[in-house]
Amino acid sequence: MATQHEHSHHEHSGSDLITAARDALVAAGEQWTGMRESVFEELARHERPASAYDIADNLSAARGKRVAPNSVYRILDLFVANNLAMRVESANAYLANTHPGCEHDCIFLVCDECGEATHVDDDAVSGGVRGVAKASRFRTRRPIIEVRGLCETCAG
Ligand SMILES: [Zn+2]
Ligand SMILES: [Zn+2]
Ligand SMILES: [Zn+2]
Repeated sequence: MATQHEHSHHEHSGSDLITAARDALVAAGEQWTGMRESVFEELARHERPASAYDIADNLSAARGKRVAPNSVYRILDLFVANNLAMRVESANAYLANTHPGCEHDCIFLVCDECGEATHVDDDAVSGGVRGVAKASRFRTRRPIIEVRGLCETCAG
């Protein structure tokens, strides 16, 4: 995993992203239920990281009945486990994964001002972090690489 994107890497958006997410979940042996689709669509609509509460609120309003944050949370966990969503740890929130068919240790540039989280992939960087951990005989589950600062707009 030293070189970046020597495989065929696809970033998806719009309805194409929904289809890619569904295919990835079904390929993992999980069901693509109506509720899961609603949660994914809602997540994909957010440009900034969204919490389970944000998504539950929006879904409750759209469906005209209360959707419990706990059930949204469980679905988000399932999405993260199956590479359909990514958790931005320092924001305590989630983003739809634009490359659900392709695993990377995604890197986030998180703006302290507006909360925007720019997603980038660099397997050389994340591979380096994994290598450092391995050299310390640490068994890595996943590196969390987040950079805090100001986005281009907020930096003025
Ligand atoms: Zn890729
Ligand atoms: Zn990524
Ligand atoms: Zn910003």
